[in-house]
Amino acid sequence: MSRITLDTVRKEFGSGGDKILAVEDVDLEIRDGEFLVLVGPSGCGKTTTLRCVAGLEDVTSGRITFGDRDVTGLRARERDVAMVFQNYALYPHMDVRRNLGFGLKLSTKLPAAEIDQQVEDVAEMLGIEELLGQKPKELSGGQQQRVALGRAIIRDPEAFLMDEPLSNLDAKLRSQMRTELQTLQHELDVTTVYVTHDQTEAMAMGDRIAVMNGGTLQQVGTAEEVYRDPVNEFVADFIGSPSINVFDATVDGARLDGPGEFSYHLSETDPVEGLRTVRVGIRPEDIQLVDNGIKLGVNVLEPMGNENFLYATLGEQEVTARIDPTNRPHPGESVSFAFDEAALYLFDPETGASLK
Ligand code: ATP
Repeated sequence: MSRITLDTVRKEFGSGGDKILAVEDVDLEIRDGEFLVLVGPSGCGKTTTLRCVAGLEDVTSGRITFGDRDVTGLRARERDVAMVFQNYALYPHMDVRRNLGFGLKLSTKLPAAEIDQQVEDVAEMLGIEELLGQKPKELSGGQQQRVALGRAIIRDPEAFLMDEPLSNLDAKLRSQMRTELQTLQHELDVTTVYVTHDQTEAMAMGDRIAVMNGGTLQQVGTAEEVYRDPVNEFVADFIGSPSINVFDATVDGARLDGPGEFSYHLSETDPVEGLRTVRVGIRPEDIQLVDNGIKLGVNVLEPMGNENFLYATLGEQEVTARIDPTNRPHPGESVSFAFDEAALYLFDPETGASLK
């Protein structure tokens, strides 16, 4: 059973006035066999959280369990997890065959022929049979990453813990490896925690995504849940590319007034009671260009092939819209837009919490 549970996990570095709170009381359950992606901006505590799960950092307080096994006090090598890092961490003087087999040789009493068979099986699984005789420095980044993965897989661990494993690869290879890694993880059915700062990667790969900010866990959910139903403005802004448009609006009875000509009639279900202002969010794809609507000043048009990104101004506010590729307004022109009211987000201006 390799469900991983973090129960109020806290990690502080340093002491006294120099104390850094890297992870603040995180509660998180990673299901057996799940591919969970920890995502957030630089410094939000995702690597530290992963290192606590791995046993590479002691937690300051809280508990970590694998299935029913409390591993909080156990060292890394007693936890039976395999880590894959960004820098691959291969042994430079060993060829691929020995890099793959080395861990098994150390940790098991398997006969050499059996280890060799497992090395060949894993090499075949990853399509690196031809590379078995080569040294890491003779391999491309993608090939090195496959070997690093192979080394994790061959150990048949209870969990894979991966820290930005694809970030040294170029964009095309990265997206190819994403798919491969996902397919492999589902085949092997090993619980996986994967850290990235790249929300596109998180959305593409995770069965569920855990979004962190400032040491705290903001939201855990499927890609669709965190995208469509963010708990707060931070998550709404972090997830999605181009980012959601967010601006201030004043509340006057049932009327919301935003920048430029933006106004919106609140429905009875919009919970803005007691607020004088709110933060309004609209995703770029929810802005629809129409003949008669709210005026936008066109700044820049970026053709993306299957769609165009329109950068425009609404009053003083910069907004981004994803529009049809046949629609090519020119910089300096005015266009007008409407939006689907169901797609409007409202956030509390003080706490950032989602209001609807
Ligand atoms: P990145 O994507 O940049 O790696 P991250 O989200 O993984 O960022 P962490 O590396 O977990 O963030 O760091 C969280 C916070 O803890 C940061 O403020 C960082 O400076 C601090 N920190 C991490 N490791 C240590 C350490 N060994 N000693 C002191 N502070 C640390």
